[in-house]
Amino acid sequence: MRTRLVAGNWKMHGNRAGNAVRLQAIVEGARSLAGVECALCVPYPYLAQASEALEGSGVALGAQDVSEFDEGAYTGEVSAPMLADFGCRYAIVGHSERRQHFGESDERVAAKFAAALRHGLVPILCVGETLAEREAGRTEAVVARQLDTVLERSGREAFARALIAYEPVWAIGTGRNATPGEAQAVHAFLRARVLEQTRILYGGSLRASNAQAIFAMPDVDGGLVGGASLVAEEFLAICRAAGKKD
Ligand code: PEP
Repeated sequence: MRTRLVAGNWKMHGNRAGNAVRLQAIVEGARSLAGVECALCVPYPYLAQASEALEGSGVALGAQDVSEFDEGAYTGEVSAPMLADFGCRYAIVGHSERRQHFGESDERVAAKFAAALRHGLVPILCVGETLAEREAGRTEAVVARQLDTVLERSGREAFARALIAYEPVWAIGTGRNATPGEAQAVHAFLRARVLEQTRILYGGSLRASNAQAIFAMPDVDGGLVGGASLVAEEFLAICRAAGKKD
């Protein structure tokens, strides 16, 4: 039985005052959640603030990226040991915005995934196709290539301690989510390559209004939520949808 996880990805949003209000609302709302795990992946400068606010709340802390290196002359990088030091449980790796805007290759993503695992963090590996790739019938080939590079480096067993997020690029921040059937088809394809126990999240314009239908799919084990995680009530409603029995 895979417990659903809903992870918020705040992306590059927030400030100390606004975060404090949002974190407090999420911590209060999370008290009444059942049957679901929650996490927040916040920008690096706010890890300490979030770590303190989430202490004892049951809401886990995550980062949005992690260096492939453990220590050294890598200006601007943040290592897995540093994230662990702040109490992070999760690290997103290979988000499409990092692949797209920062040129992260499949190989670099695989190295980041391995670094997270080496230091006890749970990587959330993002995979997903662009609209052009979907329209060309290449969805499975693309997500398989992204996943297989990680499998070659870390092995299938690594997915006992890692998650996948299927995030079609055309659905991220666009308001156009994948249909439950579209998500299920890719999730089932991915599951066949990893382990039965591996949690596979869906991400891409998840909202309280569409979450329950998507979470009802047998191979969807929760969500990675971008924009909607910036609104505490919306994020909590998505968490509640994940906690409901189908
Ligand atoms: C994301 O950033 O991972 C994401 C899924 O964004 P959004 O929910 O805004 O589409």
